[in-house]
Amino acid sequence: IAINGWPNNWVNTICPYCGVGCQIDVGTKNGKIIDIRPSKKSIVNKGNLCVKGRYAWGYVYSEDRVLNPMIKENGEWKEVSWDEAITYVSQKINDILKRYGPKAIGVLVGARITNEEEYLAAKFARVALKTNNVDSCARVCHEPSAQGLEDILGTGGATNTFEDLDKTKTVIVIGSNITENHPVIGVRLKRLASEGKIKLIVIDPRKTEIAQYADIFLQLKPGTDVVLLNAIANTIISEDLIDKDFLNKRVDGFEEFKQVVYNYTPEFAEQITGVKADLIREAARLYASNKPSMIFWGLGVTEHIQGTEIVYLLIDLALITGNLGKEGTGLMPLRGKNNVQGTAIMGAHPKKLLGAVPLSDPQNRFRFEKIWRQKVPEEPGLDAIEMVEAALRGELKGLIVFGEDLAMSHPFRKMAEEALSNLDLLVLIDMFHNETSKFANVFLPASSSFEKEGTFTNAERRIQKVNKVIDPLGNSMPDWKIVMKLAESLGLKEYFNYDTPEDVWNEIRILWSSVYGITYERLENQGGLPYPTPELDKEPIKILHKDKFTIGEKARLKPVMFIPSPENVTQEYPLILITGRSLYHFNMGSMTRRTPNKVIFGEDILEINPINANSLGIKDGDLVKIASKYGSTIIKARISDRVPKNVVFATVHFPEQSINYVVSPNIDRISHIPEYKVTAVRIEKL
Ligand code: SF4
Repeated sequence: IAINGWPNNWVNTICPYCGVGCQIDVGTKNGKIIDIRPSKKSIVNKGNLCVKGRYAWGYVYSEDRVLNPMIKENGEWKEVSWDEAITYVSQKINDILKRYGPKAIGVLVGARITNEEEYLAAKFARVALKTNNVDSCARVCHEPSAQGLEDILGTGGATNTFEDLDKTKTVIVIGSNITENHPVIGVRLKRLASEGKIKLIVIDPRKTEIAQYADIFLQLKPGTDVVLLNAIANTIISEDLIDKDFLNKRVDGFEEFKQVVYNYTPEFAEQITGVKADLIREAARLYASNKPSMIFWGLGVTEHIQGTEIVYLLIDLALITGNLGKEGTGLMPLRGKNNVQGTAIMGAHPKKLLGAVPLSDPQNRFRFEKIWRQKVPEEPGLDAIEMVEAALRGELKGLIVFGEDLAMSHPFRKMAEEALSNLDLLVLIDMFHNETSKFANVFLPASSSFEKEGTFTNAERRIQKVNKVIDPLGNSMPDWKIVMKLAESLGLKEYFNYDTPEDVWNEIRILWSSVYGITYERLENQGGLPYPTPELDKEPIKILHKDKFTIGEKARLKPVMFIPSPENVTQEYPLILITGRSLYHFNMGSMTRRTPNKVIFGEDILEINPINANSLGIKDGDLVKIASKYGSTIIKARISDRVPKNVVFATVHFPEQSINYVVSPNIDRISHIPEYKVTAVRIEKL
């Protein structure tokens, strides 16, 4: 795709897409990006890039990139000056605060923005809007991973780094289509498995590409993960494969855990999950005996009504087998967006401040108040799901959204649209109009990650430097500057006074000791550094929980009982829908749809097993209507035995198909993540 000759300048930065966080060299000619290559320094990607990172940068120059602020008048967008847009927003904010108070307004941040911008958006909510109604897109992807790891171990991040792949012997990949969603790590796993360097166990309802490299493939029924993992634990305990030494020294709650898993025999699990009992036993033996072992997981784990509890069980498995705190072991949630690990920890959370410390602790609030010179509101706020519900009830009146297409990404989209249309103020800060724009009154044009400086944190807790390649296009502005402008117009300039993103980062370092040792200079000299790196002259702590857990000397096992999804198949809705992503597009597709990747994959598809397709008279490429109790859409069928009989799979990238009209509103009890992976549906050929 290199066009117009050879670049005359190269700048090192980070891929804007997935949580692998590949380092890239971006080539420019005459101030325009014309090429991307894997960075020569690439610690994470070691010279590799996938089809997204390598080619999918064309959105930067897309014709429909919004380069001026806009206000909607009588249903039409009108370009305005920055001053006019910011004054409009601040007047509306003041009006909402005066009439309804700070509970009626909120902030939602996506993970396309830098750590510094995430931190400032969260600070803006607390200092300028006086509310803890602030949340991030992590709510709908990996909040259960962060919550689960935090609850049991004390730190809500991956326990090891990708480097441990070279030291492990067994890898479980569960609920992750890793070769499409985290391709560079997926390729590494494929290579290790095909060279016989690791044993690979894949657990997924779909026969994904990585499943073809597995030594053991457990193709479970959607939503039955708790039963399967309990049966693996049952085998490990009944066959005495536990790590007694590790259990005695570092784990509490074993007897209680043992009692709960007692009933989850592999034979019982076979009835519920559809996976043969012997295969479950084989997987359990391999994970517990061929050590060290690692577990990687994706949204197939978290996007369930028991998402957080499934994460608990993965941690339980690592604890009873001693697969933690050592090289080649560990728990690796594969974060979706490039900076979702950073987003989750920069304070954009209704109950946690920067560093994921509880807001409820007055000591924590006091620490922030000293630096911010402003009071931190005490009352916990609403999360993203609760904000939409509050808007539906008419209680939330204003919402500021940084880089997230809420209308498109929310399940039960009809309900989400009704909620958004109730708002008095909806500010969208983004590069493009999207489905949420239909309900917004103000659009503030943000710069892409190629047009600014800052840091991103990848899925292995590695903080990496984002470097400016080109100047902001048109009148677009980096999000950190937009926050400063908004704060200034609310009369709060003195609390948001930064010259550079580095100033913001240095404030973060003071407030969060785990990154105190990470300076911009050090990042530039050493490449990425995982946190914690609390000291300037010491190396980062790559492996967490080596001698003790963040939570204390011992971690407590959390037993989990199975709760079936309320989405039962019936005569009316006889199939189960899973949603997910394709190799060529990223999440809601707002960036990759504006690149040549659209030529390869130009619309969403619905995978249907040949048996179901035959009985419904559906052929490859036919248009079908897919409907649930919540809504319907029309989508093209792709006949594939990647999905088992009675299960269908749809991608989520295109607004024309918008499969979230169909997805159920059921949510996880602990983290409130929606259950995107189980909805009862029916299909008709059109
Ligand atoms: Fe790497 Fe992910 Fe970007 Fe692909 S999308 S190049 S795997 S960071």
